[in-house]
Amino acid sequence: MKQKAMTKKVEVCPICSSEQSSLHINTRDYFYSKDAFSISKCQECGFLYTNPIPLNAGKYYETDEYLSHNTSSGGLISKVYSLLRKINIARKYKLVSQNSSGKTILDVGCGTGELLRYFKEKGWTTTGIEPNEKARNLAIKNSGGSVYEESYIDKLTPHSFDIITLWHVLEHVEDLNKRMVELKGLLKSGGAIIFALPNISSPDAVKYGQFWAGLDVPRHLYHFNESSFKKLVNKHGLKLTSAIPMKLDSYYVSMLSEKYMGNTLNIPAAFLNGAISNIKARKNNNYSSMIFVVRNI
Ligand SMILES: [Zn+2]
Repeated sequence: MKQKAMTKKVEVCPICSSEQSSLHINTRDYFYSKDAFSISKCQECGFLYTNPIPLNAGKYYETDEYLSHNTSSGGLISKVYSLLRKINIARKYKLVSQNSSGKTILDVGCGTGELLRYFKEKGWTTTGIEPNEKARNLAIKNSGGSVYEESYIDKLTPHSFDIITLWHVLEHVEDLNKRMVELKGLLKSGGAIIFALPNISSPDAVKYGQFWAGLDVPRHLYHFNESSFKKLVNKHGLKLTSAIPMKLDSYYVSMLSEKYMGNTLNIPAAFLNGAISNIKARKNNNYSSMIFVVRNI
C-alpha cells in the first residue's frame, strides 16, 4: 500500500459518549499495510478505541494472508492457527451447547463456515453472516447455505435465535451500538450471545505493548477488557453472566507479536511468553482472549 490512508477522527467514546480522550498508545498495522495508527483512551470511562479510523476500512482486509487466517493454506503461522482452530471448534461446540436452550445458532463473522458445518452435522439450524465475499462463498459451500452478507443482518427474523456467537468479531464492527441493538433484537427470550474478544489488559498485551498482535489496528476498532465490555452490555440492557478464558490464544498472539517485533518465528520465545501470560492471568481471570456470555436482563 503506497498511498497514505484517509482517516476520520472518532469524536465521542462509543460507550459513554464523552468527547474527552487522551492518547493511549501509538502503534502500526504490523500485519499488512504498516500504516501508523493510535489508540485513544476515554477520559470518562477508560474505554480504549482506535482513533482515527480509516475511511475505507475494506482495503485493510484486502490481503489473501488475512483470508488465510481462515483457511489451511499459507505459512507456518497459518498452519498453527488452523490446528488450534480445529481444537477450538470442539470446545466452542461444548460451550455453546451448555449455554443454549435450543438448536438455532447465528454465527456473525462466520469466516469460511467450519464452525457452522460442525453445528449442522450435530443437527442444529445454522445461519451465518460474513462480510468477506471469498470467505462467504466458502462458508456457503462448507455449511450448506444460509450465509449472508453483513447488511442482511437487518433482514433476519427478530427473536429467532437461541444463541448468537461472535468469535473475535465485535472489535471489527464500526457501528458498535447499532450492532448491539440488532443482536439483542435477534435473540429469543432466554437466549444468549457469546462474544470472544482479545483482552487489552492481559499479561501478554502488557508485555508486548504496541507490538501486541491483539491490537491489530486498524481492523480492530475497539480494545476491550472485562470492565469496558461489561459497561457496553449493561448500556444495552444485557447482563454478562460468565467470563471464560481462551488459553490457546496467548500462544498464537505471542507468536505474531514476536514476528511484529522482528523476531520472525521465534517459537520458543512465543511459547514461553504464551505460557507465562496464562500463568499470570490465573490470578484475576485476565487471559489473552476471553469469551463472554451475555443474556437479557
Ligand atoms: Zn467513555
